[in-house]
Amino acid sequence: MTRRAGVLGWPVAHSRSPAIHEAAYVAAGLEGWRYQLLPVPPALFDETLRALPGAGFVGANVTIPHKEAALAAAEWATDAAREIGAANSLSFDGARVEADNTDAPGFLAALGEPPTGRAVVLGAGGSARAVAWALCSAGAEVEVWNRTPERAERLAAELGVRAVTTVEPGRLLVNCTAVGLEGEDPFAALPLEPGRMGEWGVVADLVYGEGETALIRDAREAGARVVDGLEVLVRQGALSFERWTGVPAPVEAMRAAAGLK
Ligand code: NAP
Repeated sequence: MTRRAGVLGWPVAHSRSPAIHEAAYVAAGLEGWRYQLLPVPPALFDETLRALPGAGFVGANVTIPHKEAALAAAEWATDAAREIGAANSLSFDGARVEADNTDAPGFLAALGEPPTGRAVVLGAGGSARAVAWALCSAGAEVEVWNRTPERAERLAAELGVRAVTTVEPGRLLVNCTAVGLEGEDPFAALPLEPGRMGEWGVVADLVYGEGETALIRDAREAGARVVDGLEVLVRQGALSFERWTGVPAPVEAMRAAAGLK
């Protein structure tokens, strides 16, 4: 019997998750596994989700705009998913839907070292919530800046971190805004100074596309250690893979399929 997983999103055609997971099945020697795109508009999310277990699905990743709906639809959720308020990884136990958030531990795995000191999160959307929650639970001192300051204040109050209106370089910078997705200049849209990127210890960008983002390129050239958004994508996917298959994720094969060196 074919065992299926996939990614629920709208739109989702651009997703690299099928290539990453299919490469993982091959590298792990898992036969009869398939991972597919599941383009589902919001109005059809609940009924599509309920149909997946009966169609051979063991789980699904969830991306924009369904992460909150995925949590709401689940019969059970991890503390991480409940506290973040969003789920990106669903597992099916019969018809029962279990929700997790692997964006948070996936981000910490991509970071590759325990976060210490002051970390600045740019953004107050879904990924900013997961990253701020992960950094806070790992012991970092978290500051959140957002274009719309009221959203940063709400996030800060809910997660117990600090909202800021100006940004001073520190140990870690994480871009969780959509800036860079369309090739925008990060120094025009974000409170960062081009000449000061070398003052950050580590710069991570959740945005990814073809090649590195302008933020990652500038930070790397200025001497900061950088973490690519594709690394975060691979690591959150690796955690879902392990949950669904019960075998260790072949992370290097997944990285190669994502185009990482
Ligand atoms: P979201 O919930 O829609 O939040 C978008 C955020 O971007 C908000 O804070 C918004 O600020 C800000 N923003 C949008 N346009 C901006 C601009 N021109 N200038 C300044 N701020 C701007 O999105 P999300 O789910 O958090 O995702 C954010 C990005 O991370 C996306 O590019 C997504 O593809 C990426 N992502 C990557 C991974 C990964 O695995 N690598 C995982 C999740 C997300 P306002 O509140 O002011 O509107």
